Amino acid sequence: MRKLLIYLKDYKKESILGPLFKLLEASFELFVPLVMAAIIDVGIANGDKNYILKMCGVLILLAVIGLVCSITAQFFAAKAAVGFAAKLRHVLFAHIQSLSYTEMDAIGTSTMITRMTSDINQVQSGVNMVLRLFLRSPFIVFGAMVMAFTIDVKAALIFVVIIPLLAIVVFGIMLITIPLFKKVQSGLDEVLGITRENLTGSRVIRAFHKEKEEIETFHEKNQLLTNLQLYVGKISALMNPLTYILINAALLVLIWVGAIRVDNGAILQGEVVALVNYMSQILIELVKLANLIITVTKAVACGNRIESVFEIHSSMSDGHRTKSDAHAGGNPAKRQDLRSDGHRTKSDAHAGGNPAKRQDYAVCFDNVSMGYQGGGEYAVSNINLKVKRGETVGVIGGTGSGKSTVINLIPRFYDVSEGAVYVSGEDVRDYKLSELRDKIGIVPQKAVLFAGTIRENMKWGKADATDEEINEALDIAQAREFVEQKEGKLDAEIEQGGRNLSGGQKQRLTIARALVKKPEILILDDSASALDYATDAALRHSIREMKNAPTVFIVSQRAASILHADQILVLDDGDVAGLGTHAELLENCEVYQEIYYSQFSKEEGEEVHS
Ligand code: ADP
Ligand code: MG
Repeated sequence: MRKLLIYLKDYKKESILGPLFKLLEASFELFVPLVMAAIIDVGIANGDKNYILKMCGVLILLAVIGLVCSITAQFFAAKAAVGFAAKLRHVLFAHIQSLSYTEMDAIGTSTMITRMTSDINQVQSGVNMVLRLFLRSPFIVFGAMVMAFTIDVKAALIFVVIIPLLAIVVFGIMLITIPLFKKVQSGLDEVLGITRENLTGSRVIRAFHKEKEEIETFHEKNQLLTNLQLYVGKISALMNPLTYILINAALLVLIWVGAIRVDNGAILQGEVVALVNYMSQILIELVKLANLIITVTKAVACGNRIESVFEIHSSMSDGHRTKSDAHAGGNPAKRQDLRSDGHRTKSDAHAGGNPAKRQDYAVCFDNVSMGYQGGGEYAVSNINLKVKRGETVGVIGGTGSGKSTVINLIPRFYDVSEGAVYVSGEDVRDYKLSELRDKIGIVPQKAVLFAGTIRENMKWGKADATDEEINEALDIAQAREFVEQKEGKLDAEIEQGGRNLSGGQKQRLTIARALVKKPEILILDDSASALDYATDAALRHSIREMKNAPTVFIVSQRAASILHADQILVLDDGDVAGLGTHAELLENCEVYQEIYYSQFSKEEGEEVHS
């Protein structure tokens, strides 16, 4: 939590002025009982109406000054707290964006959302409350006690006894309830979690007719949370009766002692009233202080959770290569520095020996293996692949065979565990990420579009794309026709996540988005799965016909989508089962034959082949 406070440093002035004005307000509040005492002892005792009116004026003045101070203090406190939260949210968002896929996998989307939203809000209100109350409440408690002593030492001794007693009750209850509140919070998180899962998966739940079970599970968790909250509520509810018993007992003693001392002429009646006032001020502030501490504990807990996200650093460092380095050719010495383990592998030595040769290839996999964090075995291993510029590579294999894993290594979404991936002859780890990804147009397996118009979505590929360029990309992606039919055409609104589009329409738009930037390398990760065969074929045809046709990677489960590729990589459970052209593979790759003949009968196969 402490490390987060540096984001408050732009608000130093506010963080000092806020509490200061609160103290001013508190000081004026402490004067009020004294004025009351004067009204009673001087004004009422002597029947001096003028004096009473004058003192009432003083009371109003104190109230107005207090109000002004209070508003000023709230203003500064709010400004500092909100500004701090905005800064923190900004930095956290930037930090999350800097993380690589590996860390994002580990944290999880819903956690990141909670950290960004409710956790930051909690910290914000914590900061706000601290600035407002942290000095004020103790100040009033002790101030009131000191004032009581100035009025009458003997009567003030009651304060010395009652304040610790009140503190024990208030803070005791707080100590009991804070851990319970934490449990309530985790119960709430749980209910939130199943609510989210249920609402996003509502179609599946209905399809499997699980509504009843889900409602029951929800009811159970919800009831658990309710019971816990009731229990905490009951304990917290003890606060008022207990403190009131104590305060009233103290008042009893105070009035009793006060009466005797007034009788003896040691103090005046008004001063007894002032003492009573101070006592109730103390009670109120102690309760506020307890609430403050609860808020602060929550805020600190949330702050620590946010901090733990900051402590996760990206395992992927940006390469140091600049554009001018590119002309100088590969710089193997530099790359060695970036290696975390520093061991030169056999393949390294071999590849490092002839960088000139690698330059000829658009993409080159050099004995690549890759394992996900916490995933045990390698997801893919020993991939060797050399792809010339303009070639088309097909990647085929069953689900989970590692197709997405392989192609995600090209834009360096993940780092390889062994070996190296080269793009235009350069290790991807030597590129600046932005430069590398500028070269690559990737269409992820899951089509993701953002809320906004079609044009806005297309401009993700290239910020200054003209309508002409966009239409060209839409043409190639076979999306032009349905876009033209939409109301507003390029200005047609896409809802969040592309809810208002069909699966195939979404896929075609994501392909067009990748094409808008005219990438050197185009990667289609099962991106045509929702298209019919004819559209799929037309799409592949128009990509081949493009000016400066990119190097294309087509991942697919359909043999028909890839059989014309220059090379086909066949994956089986993370291993290379075959690499070659359709004809070669049909001849000597068992896995490929299996896939192929499950989709084409032998005669049909002959037809396509010929
Ligand atoms: P494909 O695209 O061929 O269906 P993937 O490349 O997505 O297969 O997955 C290959 C293997 O890697 C699978 O066993 C899968 O469980 C695992 N895997 C994929 N993504 C992750 C991830 N983010 N974290 C951990 N394991 C993963
Ligand atoms: Mg996949």
